[in-house]
Amino acid sequence: MISMAEFLAKIPKMELHLHLEGAIRPQTAVDLARKNGVALPPFERVEDLYRYDTLEQFLKIYTAVSDSLVSADDYRRVTYEMLESCAANNSRYVEFFFSPQIHFPNGVSFDTQMDGIRAGMADAESDFGVVSVCAPGVNRELGPAAGEDFLDMIFARGDEKLVGIGLDFNEAPFPPEPYAALFERARNVGLQVTAHAGETGPAEFIRGSIDALKVRRIDHGYHVVDDPELMQRCKDEGILFTVCPSTSAVTSPWHDLSAPDHAIRVMKDFGLKVMINSDDPPMFFTDLGKEYGKAAHQLGFTPADIRRSTIDAIEGSWLDDTTKRRYAAEWGAEIDGLIAELG
Ligand SMILES: [Zn+2]
Repeated sequence: MISMAEFLAKIPKMELHLHLEGAIRPQTAVDLARKNGVALPPFERVEDLYRYDTLEQFLKIYTAVSDSLVSADDYRRVTYEMLESCAANNSRYVEFFFSPQIHFPNGVSFDTQMDGIRAGMADAESDFGVVSVCAPGVNRELGPAAGEDFLDMIFARGDEKLVGIGLDFNEAPFPPEPYAALFERARNVGLQVTAHAGETGPAEFIRGSIDALKVRRIDHGYHVVDDPELMQRCKDEGILFTVCPSTSAVTSPWHDLSAPDHAIRVMKDFGLKVMINSDDPPMFFTDLGKEYGKAAHQLGFTPADIRRSTIDAIEGSWLDDTTKRRYAAEWGAEIDGLIAELG
């Protein structure tokens, strides 16, 4: 017999919605800021670095911490530590985002970022066995022209571990449609695509991401519940939603994870494909294991729901078909064994 806590700890996991700049440990942020001469907002204890009262304060901290990444070795360290935390939560495969464009004004080139990230990914894979790929997020605030220049850099790099792109940053004022040509160009060279939508923006941005950007998965997507026709369509088309319990309670209108009408619960109960992620874990005092705990204890995910969501995640991931089949068979059997042990 195992407890629910043991079950949640032991099940194999993958993460498809995790931001490198949001995953920097407080002590690491302090070390890097000191080394690179970046002023952080005042804090009393290191572990309180990410405590804030307003969104404005949060953005200040986020910007200062991001600005603390300068050298390839800085990137190697934060990538390695992020993946170490993933592995500690039995996350075996990770597709993570990073935000290259916010570092260009600091003179940090795309190659510097990628060199460090690749080194951190390789070290984490050999030390912890966690397999990862990355997807730079296009900053929707900067406009499609800047995005096209950025895509040129991605093409020039031609990195086998850089498998897709996302659409990110302040959603509500920036609908997806202006990025249609950019996403088409990315798809045409075989890059995978995903987009943040329906978090602070309306359901219409989810529809726009599916129609104009041709994404098959949506990061967050909570506002889908406002639009029954779109809900049905996403169910019929098997769109995967990469949801993040802790951040949903802060950034979306659904602040109470235990409420019967919380968007993630409604999406799951309707039969949408939803899978659990940690987004910006240290900034929200969480990790993937805690997010699974919130899913189980507050959002009503049963062990069977978690099994289904794991298989949906594998299918909606950017793995090749052979690996997907293997993971689905192996992880499915492993989860079945653990469900059988549950008291
Ligand atoms: Zn995100």
